[in-house]
Amino acid sequence: MSKKTKGNNTLDYPFSKRPPNGDVLEVFPNLYWLRMPLPIALNHINLWLLEGSEGWTIIDSGMANDESKAIWINLFETLFKGKKLEKLLITHMHLDHSGLAGWLSDHWEVDPYFTKKEFQETQILSKGIEKSQEFIALDFYKSCGYDDASIKRYLERVTLRKTLVTPLNRNYIRLQNEDSVILGDIEWEIVIAKGHSPEHACLYSKENNIFICGDVLLPRITPNISVRPFHAETNPLDDWIKSLKKIKTIIPDDVLILPSHGYPYYGAHKRIDALIEDHMKKIESLFDFCKEPKNVIEVFPALFVNEINENSLILAVGESLAHLNYLIGEERMKMKKNSEGINYYQSI
Ligand SMILES: [Zn+2]
Repeated sequence: MSKKTKGNNTLDYPFSKRPPNGDVLEVFPNLYWLRMPLPIALNHINLWLLEGSEGWTIIDSGMANDESKAIWINLFETLFKGKKLEKLLITHMHLDHSGLAGWLSDHWEVDPYFTKKEFQETQILSKGIEKSQEFIALDFYKSCGYDDASIKRYLERVTLRKTLVTPLNRNYIRLQNEDSVILGDIEWEIVIAKGHSPEHACLYSKENNIFICGDVLLPRITPNISVRPFHAETNPLDDWIKSLKKIKTIIPDDVLILPSHGYPYYGAHKRIDALIEDHMKKIESLFDFCKEPKNVIEVFPALFVNEINENSLILAVGESLAHLNYLIGEERMKMKKNSEGINYYQSI
Protein backbone atom coordinates (compact mmCIF):
# COMPACT_ATOMS: atom_id res chain seq x y z
CA MET A 1 0.00 0.00 0.00
CA SER A 2 1.14 3.45 -0.70
CA LYS A 3 0.09 6.88 -1.79
CA LYS A 4 0.16 8.89 -4.97
CA THR A 5 3.06 11.23 -5.51
CA LYS A 6 2.13 14.80 -6.14
CA GLY A 7 3.73 17.05 -8.69
CA ASN A 8 5.25 16.57 -12.08
CA ASN A 9 5.29 13.16 -13.59
CA THR A 10 7.14 13.46 -16.87
CA LEU A 11 7.98 9.83 -17.52
CA ASP A 12 7.56 8.18 -20.95
CA TYR A 13 4.91 5.50 -21.15
CA PRO A 14 5.39 3.31 -24.27
CA PHE A 15 2.07 1.47 -23.92
CA SER A 16 -1.06 3.53 -24.31
CA LYS A 17 -3.31 0.59 -23.43
CA ARG A 18 -3.24 -1.85 -20.57
CA PRO A 19 -4.48 -5.45 -20.69
CA PRO A 20 -8.07 -5.94 -19.49
CA ASN A 21 -8.50 -7.28 -15.95
CA GLY A 22 -7.49 -10.95 -15.83
CA ASP A 23 -5.86 -10.85 -19.26
CA VAL A 24 -2.40 -10.38 -20.77
CA LEU A 25 -0.55 -8.11 -23.20
CA GLU A 26 2.81 -9.03 -24.74
CA VAL A 27 5.29 -6.24 -23.89
CA PHE A 28 8.42 -7.94 -25.27
CA PRO A 29 8.74 -11.21 -27.23
CA ASN A 30 7.50 -13.99 -24.90
CA LEU A 31 7.09 -11.59 -21.94
CA TYR A 32 3.49 -10.88 -20.93
CA TRP A 33 1.90 -8.27 -18.69
CA LEU A 34 -1.02 -9.73 -16.69
CA ARG A 35 -3.35 -7.33 -14.93
CA MET A 36 -4.74 -9.04 -11.84
CA PRO A 37 -7.59 -7.28 -10.02
CA LEU A 38 -7.28 -6.69 -6.25
CA PRO A 39 -10.13 -6.39 -3.72
CA ILE A 40 -8.58 -3.29 -2.09
CA ALA A 41 -8.30 0.45 -2.80
CA LEU A 42 -5.24 -0.23 -4.97
CA ASN A 43 -7.40 -2.14 -7.44
CA HIS A 44 -4.83 -4.09 -9.47
CA ILE A 45 -1.37 -5.60 -9.55
CA ASN A 46 0.75 -6.27 -12.62
CA LEU A 47 2.17 -9.79 -12.78
CA TRP A 48 4.72 -10.89 -15.40
CA LEU A 49 4.71 -14.14 -17.35
CA LEU A 50 7.55 -15.46 -19.49
CA GLU A 51 7.27 -18.23 -22.02
CA GLY A 52 10.45 -20.30 -22.34
CA SER A 53 11.28 -23.38 -24.36
CA GLU A 54 10.83 -25.61 -21.28
CA GLY A 55 7.72 -23.97 -19.86
CA TRP A 56 6.36 -20.81 -18.28
CA THR A 57 7.65 -18.55 -15.54
CA ILE A 58 5.34 -16.51 -13.31
CA ILE A 59 6.63 -13.45 -11.47
CA ASP A 60 4.41 -12.66 -8.44
CA SER A 61 1.10 -14.33 -7.74
CA GLY A 62 -1.80 -12.01 -6.83
CA MET A 63 -3.84 -12.13 -3.63
CA ALA A 64 -5.34 -15.36 -2.36
CA ASN A 65 -9.00 -15.21 -3.33
CA ASP A 66 -11.34 -17.13 -5.65
CA GLU A 67 -11.26 -14.49 -8.38
CA SER A 68 -7.44 -14.63 -8.72
CA LYS A 69 -7.47 -18.44 -8.72
CA ALA A 70 -10.13 -18.50 -11.49
CA ILE A 71 -8.01 -16.10 -13.59
CA TRP A 72 -4.98 -18.35 -13.22
CA ILE A 73 -6.93 -21.52 -14.09
CA ASN A 74 -8.25 -19.80 -17.21
CA LEU A 75 -4.74 -18.70 -18.26
CA PHE A 76 -3.33 -22.20 -17.72
CA GLU A 77 -5.85 -23.42 -20.31
CA THR A 78 -5.79 -20.55 -22.79
CA LEU A 79 -2.26 -19.11 -22.62
CA PHE A 80 -0.09 -22.00 -21.41
CA LYS A 81 -1.43 -24.27 -24.21
CA GLY A 82 -0.22 -27.54 -22.76
CA LYS A 83 3.08 -26.20 -21.44
CA LYS A 84 3.71 -26.51 -17.71
CA LEU A 85 4.77 -23.92 -15.18
CA GLU A 86 8.52 -24.25 -14.94
CA LYS A 87 9.38 -21.51 -12.45
CA LEU A 88 7.67 -19.21 -9.96
CA LEU A 89 9.40 -16.16 -8.51
CA ILE A 90 8.01 -13.90 -5.77
CA THR A 91 9.57 -10.43 -5.49
CA HIS A 92 8.48 -9.82 -1.88
CA MET A 93 6.18 -10.72 0.99
CA HIS A 94 3.28 -8.30 0.49
CA LEU A 95 -0.02 -10.10 0.05
CA ASP A 96 -0.78 -8.92 -3.48
CA HIS A 97 2.59 -10.38 -4.57
CA SER A 98 2.88 -13.49 -2.42
CA GLY A 99 -0.73 -14.45 -1.60
CA LEU A 100 -1.05 -17.30 -4.08
CA ALA A 101 2.60 -18.45 -4.03
CA GLY A 102 1.72 -21.50 -1.91
CA TRP A 103 -1.28 -22.40 -4.08
CA LEU A 104 0.62 -22.01 -7.37
CA SER A 105 3.62 -24.00 -6.16
CA ASP A 106 1.38 -26.80 -4.85
CA HIS A 107 -0.67 -26.82 -8.06
CA TRP A 108 2.39 -27.15 -10.33
CA GLU A 109 4.70 -28.89 -7.86
CA VAL A 110 7.44 -26.29 -8.23
CA ASP A 111 9.52 -24.75 -5.44
CA PRO A 112 9.17 -20.96 -5.62
CA TYR A 113 12.13 -18.59 -5.89
CA PHE A 114 12.27 -16.12 -2.99
CA THR A 115 14.93 -14.21 -1.07
CA LYS A 116 15.36 -15.69 2.40
CA LYS A 117 13.73 -12.89 4.40
CA GLU A 118 10.76 -12.54 2.06
CA PHE A 119 10.13 -16.31 2.25
CA GLN A 120 10.26 -16.24 6.05
CA GLU A 121 7.95 -13.21 6.28
CA THR A 122 5.43 -14.79 3.89
CA GLN A 123 5.43 -17.92 6.08
CA ILE A 124 4.75 -15.77 9.16
CA LEU A 125 1.87 -14.01 7.37
CA SER A 126 0.24 -17.29 6.41
CA LYS A 127 0.46 -18.61 9.97
CA GLY A 128 -0.67 -15.40 11.72
CA ILE A 129 1.09 -14.06 14.80
CA GLU A 130 1.29 -16.04 18.03
CA LYS A 131 -0.08 -14.82 21.38
CA SER A 132 3.40 -13.99 22.71
CA GLN A 133 4.10 -11.86 19.63
CA GLU A 134 0.70 -10.21 19.93
CA PHE A 135 1.86 -8.52 23.15
CA ILE A 136 4.93 -7.11 21.43
CA ALA A 137 2.73 -5.65 18.70
CA LEU A 138 0.24 -4.21 21.19
CA ASP A 139 3.02 -2.59 23.19
CA PHE A 140 4.45 -1.14 20.01
CA TYR A 141 1.17 0.49 18.94
CA LYS A 142 0.46 1.72 22.47
CA SER A 143 3.87 3.43 22.54
CA CYS A 144 2.87 5.21 19.31
CA GLY A 145 -0.22 6.68 20.94
CA TYR A 146 -2.91 4.23 19.73
CA ASP A 147 -6.19 4.14 21.63
CA ASP A 148 -7.90 0.83 22.55
CA ALA A 149 -10.27 0.89 19.55
CA SER A 150 -7.34 1.24 17.13
CA ILE A 151 -5.51 -1.63 18.80
CA LYS A 152 -8.61 -3.81 18.43
CA ARG A 153 -8.76 -2.97 14.71
CA TYR A 154 -5.08 -3.88 14.36
CA LEU A 155 -5.78 -7.36 15.74
CA GLU A 156 -8.74 -7.77 13.37
CA ARG A 157 -6.51 -6.82 10.49
CA VAL A 158 -3.90 -9.43 11.40
CA THR A 159 -6.64 -12.09 11.34
CA LEU A 160 -7.90 -10.84 7.97
CA ARG A 161 -4.41 -10.81 6.43
CA LYS A 162 -3.98 -14.48 7.26
CA THR A 163 -6.90 -15.32 4.97
CA LEU A 164 -5.31 -13.54 1.98
CA VAL A 165 -2.23 -15.73 1.77
CA THR A 166 -2.02 -19.47 1.09
CA PRO A 167 0.37 -21.65 3.15
CA LEU A 168 3.83 -22.37 1.73
CA ASN A 169 4.10 -26.13 1.96
CA ARG A 170 7.20 -26.61 -0.18
CA ASN A 171 10.81 -25.63 0.10
CA TYR A 172 12.09 -22.53 -1.72
CA ILE A 173 14.99 -21.67 -4.02
CA ARG A 174 16.97 -18.86 -2.44
CA LEU A 175 17.71 -15.68 -4.39
CA GLN A 176 20.61 -13.46 -3.40
CA ASN A 177 21.85 -10.10 -4.60
CA GLU A 178 23.72 -10.28 -7.93
CA ASP A 179 22.55 -13.85 -8.57
CA SER A 180 21.96 -14.69 -12.18
CA VAL A 181 18.79 -16.63 -12.99
CA ILE A 182 17.37 -17.84 -16.28
CA LEU A 183 13.63 -17.18 -16.58
CA GLY A 184 11.87 -17.73 -19.89
CA ASP A 185 15.23 -18.30 -21.64
CA ILE A 186 16.36 -14.80 -20.59
CA GLU A 187 19.19 -14.15 -18.14
CA TRP A 188 18.22 -11.86 -15.24
CA GLU A 189 20.36 -10.34 -12.52
CA ILE A 190 18.81 -10.20 -9.06
CA VAL A 191 18.97 -6.72 -7.56
CA ILE A 192 17.94 -6.56 -3.88
CA ALA A 193 16.21 -3.44 -2.55
CA LYS A 194 15.65 -2.99 1.20
CA GLY A 195 13.24 -0.66 2.96
CA HIS A 196 9.83 -1.28 1.37
CA SER A 197 10.15 -4.87 2.53
CA PRO A 198 13.12 -6.66 4.08
CA GLU A 199 14.80 -8.17 1.01
CA HIS A 200 12.80 -7.26 -2.11
CA ALA A 201 14.04 -8.89 -5.34
CA CYS A 202 14.08 -6.90 -8.60
CA LEU A 203 15.10 -8.44 -11.94
CA TYR A 204 17.38 -6.81 -14.46
CA SER A 205 17.99 -8.08 -17.99
CA LYS A 206 21.04 -6.19 -19.21
CA GLU A 207 20.82 -7.77 -22.65
CA ASN A 208 17.23 -6.66 -23.24
CA ASN A 209 17.37 -3.50 -21.12
CA ILE A 210 14.36 -4.44 -18.98
CA PHE A 211 13.94 -3.97 -15.22
CA ILE A 212 11.13 -5.80 -13.43
CA CYS A 213 11.03 -3.63 -10.32
CA GLY A 214 8.19 -5.06 -8.21
CA ASP A 215 7.08 -2.23 -5.92
CA VAL A 216 10.43 -0.44 -5.93
CA LEU A 217 10.19 2.05 -8.82
CA LEU A 218 6.45 2.56 -9.24
CA PRO A 219 5.68 5.36 -11.70
CA ARG A 220 3.06 7.29 -9.72
CA ILE A 221 3.08 5.87 -6.21
CA THR A 222 5.61 6.36 -3.43
CA PRO A 223 6.03 2.89 -1.89
CA ASN A 224 5.26 2.64 1.79
CA ILE A 225 8.39 2.57 3.95
CA SER A 226 7.45 1.37 7.43
CA VAL A 227 8.93 0.53 10.78
CA ARG A 228 7.07 -2.57 11.91
CA PRO A 229 6.23 -3.86 15.41
CA PHE A 230 8.88 -6.58 15.58
CA HIS A 231 11.61 -4.34 14.20
CA ALA A 232 10.90 -1.15 16.15
CA GLU A 233 14.47 0.13 16.29
CA THR A 234 15.29 -0.30 12.61
CA ASN A 235 15.95 2.44 10.05
CA PRO A 236 14.23 1.19 6.88
CA LEU A 237 14.22 4.66 5.28
CA ASP A 238 18.02 4.71 5.35
CA ASP A 239 18.02 1.22 3.77
CA TRP A 240 15.55 2.44 1.16
CA ILE A 241 17.48 5.56 0.14
CA LYS A 242 20.71 3.57 -0.06
CA SER A 243 18.97 0.92 -2.18
CA LEU A 244 17.58 3.52 -4.59
CA LYS A 245 21.03 5.10 -4.98
CA LYS A 246 22.55 1.66 -5.60
CA ILE A 247 19.93 0.80 -8.24
CA LYS A 248 20.67 4.07 -10.04
CA THR A 249 24.26 2.87 -10.53
CA ILE A 250 23.12 -0.50 -11.90
CA ILE A 251 20.32 0.29 -14.36
CA PRO A 252 20.64 2.78 -17.22
CA ASP A 253 18.19 5.66 -17.56
CA ASP A 254 16.72 4.25 -20.79
CA VAL A 255 15.82 0.83 -19.30
CA LEU A 256 12.19 -0.28 -19.71
CA ILE A 257 10.68 -0.43 -16.20
CA LEU A 258 7.97 -3.03 -15.63
CA PRO A 259 6.31 -1.99 -12.34
CA SER A 260 3.82 -3.93 -10.18
CA HIS A 261 1.30 -1.07 -10.26
CA GLY A 262 0.63 1.41 -13.06
CA TYR A 263 2.03 1.42 -16.61
CA PRO A 264 5.49 0.37 -17.88
CA TYR A 265 7.69 3.42 -18.42
CA TYR A 266 11.05 4.94 -19.33
CA GLY A 267 12.75 7.48 -17.07
CA ALA A 268 14.29 5.36 -14.29
CA HIS A 269 16.83 7.88 -13.02
CA LYS A 270 14.34 10.74 -12.92
CA ARG A 271 11.94 8.54 -10.96
CA ILE A 272 14.64 7.51 -8.47
CA ASP A 273 15.60 11.16 -7.91
CA ALA A 274 11.94 12.12 -7.35
CA LEU A 275 11.39 9.32 -4.83
CA ILE A 276 14.46 10.33 -2.82
CA GLU A 277 13.56 14.02 -2.95
CA ASP A 278 10.06 13.30 -1.65
CA HIS A 279 11.47 11.63 1.46
CA MET A 280 14.06 14.36 2.00
CA LYS A 281 11.33 17.00 2.03
CA LYS A 282 9.32 14.98 4.53
CA ILE A 283 12.34 14.49 6.77
CA GLU A 284 12.89 18.26 6.93
CA SER A 285 9.23 19.08 7.53
CA LEU A 286 9.17 16.51 10.34
CA PHE A 287 12.31 17.99 11.86
CA ASP A 288 10.68 21.45 11.92
CA PHE A 289 7.40 20.07 13.25
CA CYS A 290 8.99 18.36 16.27
CA LYS A 291 10.48 21.45 17.91
CA GLU A 292 8.09 20.60 20.75
CA PRO A 293 7.76 16.90 21.74
CA LYS A 294 5.18 14.92 19.71
CA ASN A 295 4.06 11.31 19.73
CA VAL A 296 3.83 9.31 16.49
CA ILE A 297 0.12 9.92 15.91
CA GLU A 298 0.65 13.66 16.41
CA VAL A 299 3.24 14.01 13.61
CA PHE A 300 0.84 13.01 10.79
CA PRO A 301 0.15 16.63 9.67
CA ALA A 302 3.88 17.08 8.95
CA LEU A 303 3.92 14.09 6.56
CA PHE A 304 0.51 13.47 5.02
CA VAL A 305 -1.74 15.75 3.02
CA ASN A 306 -4.78 13.51 3.36
CA GLU A 307 -6.66 12.79 6.56
CA ILE A 308 -5.53 9.48 8.10
CA ASN A 309 -8.48 7.16 8.65
CA GLU A 310 -8.73 3.78 10.31
CA ASN A 311 -7.74 2.00 7.07
CA SER A 312 -4.57 4.00 6.59
CA LEU A 313 -3.59 4.28 10.27
CA ILE A 314 -1.17 1.33 10.44
CA LEU A 315 0.68 2.42 7.30
CA ALA A 316 0.78 6.03 8.51
CA VAL A 317 2.24 4.99 11.87
CA GLY A 318 4.87 2.80 10.18
CA GLU A 319 5.80 5.51 7.69
CA SER A 320 6.00 8.23 10.38
CA LEU A 321 8.27 6.06 12.49
CA ALA A 322 10.49 5.37 9.47
CA HIS A 323 11.06 9.13 9.09
CA LEU A 324 11.48 9.65 12.87
CA ASN A 325 14.00 6.80 13.13
CA TYR A 326 15.89 8.23 10.16
CA LEU A 327 16.28 11.53 12.02
CA ILE A 328 17.33 9.65 15.17
CA GLY A 329 19.95 7.87 13.02
CA GLU A 330 21.21 11.30 11.96
CA GLU A 331 21.25 12.40 15.62
CA ARG A 332 18.80 15.21 14.87
CA MET A 333 15.94 13.75 16.92
CA LYS A 334 15.61 12.25 20.40
CA MET A 335 12.92 9.99 21.79
CA LYS A 336 11.68 9.79 25.40
CA LYS A 337 9.03 7.48 26.86
CA ASN A 338 6.51 9.17 29.19
CA SER A 339 5.05 7.65 32.37
CA GLU A 340 2.18 6.06 30.38
CA GLY A 341 4.56 4.27 28.02
CA ILE A 342 4.00 6.60 25.05
CA ASN A 343 7.07 7.64 23.05
CA TYR A 344 7.64 11.35 22.44
CA TYR A 345 9.99 12.75 19.80
CA GLN A 346 11.78 16.09 19.76
CA SER A 347 14.21 17.65 17.28
CA ILE A 348 17.69 18.44 18.51
ZN1 LIG B 1 4.93 -4.18 -1.66
